Amino acid sequence: MCTGQNQSYKTRVLMNPSKMVQSSPQSPSQSKHLTLEIFTTQISDDDLSSITHALKRAYGTLIEICPGEPHELPSQAYHRQRNQYDADYLLRYALRQKNRDIVLWIIPHDLYISQMNFIFGLAHYFQGAVLSLFRLNSDDLKQKEAIHEIGHVLGLPHCTNTCVMHYSNSLGEAQRKSLSLCDRCKRILNI
Ligand SMILES: [Zn+2]
Ligand SMILES: [Zn+2]
Repeated sequence: MCTGQNQSYKTRVLMNPSKMVQSSPQSPSQSKHLTLEIFTTQISDDDLSSITHALKRAYGTLIEICPGEPHELPSQAYHRQRNQYDADYLLRYALRQKNRDIVLWIIPHDLYISQMNFIFGLAHYFQGAVLSLFRLNSDDLKQKEAIHEIGHVLGLPHCTNTCVMHYSNSLGEAQRKSLSLCDRCKRILNI
């Protein structure tokens, strides 16, 4: 129950921006019915509603989505020269603040981690993820990347099938990849 508490690709791509996952996958059985708290920072109601519905559609009863509080971005995470936020810092911050099993923090600003020009999102297996809408200029892309990051949080690695868990080397590839999980990924999650 959810009651109670509540640079771009101009020059080169060093690594795949939707490839960023830290720590190792664990048993999929650990991903059963997790409560997901959504943090937002200056995200429109339309975006939040669209992403929430997409996550429910993708994961069904595997996750229970609990409304979270709006959160200010910690100034320590801002890199002035890059005009981007440090995704690793934000994710660790969110993991300390969360009140549920897992957390998704959706922000409108651009994200980076070291060695990368930018990333769309960053996930820790079975803990949480941070997602930037900065470069995602359609509902379709926002939904895909949210489903992708939560897929990692539920223990899914990248997938080579026609699948939302396929990694994307560019915004164009993100646009072309499927909005849905493939049968193999669904089997891993038992959905
Ligand atoms: Zn990924
Ligand atoms: Zn798949």
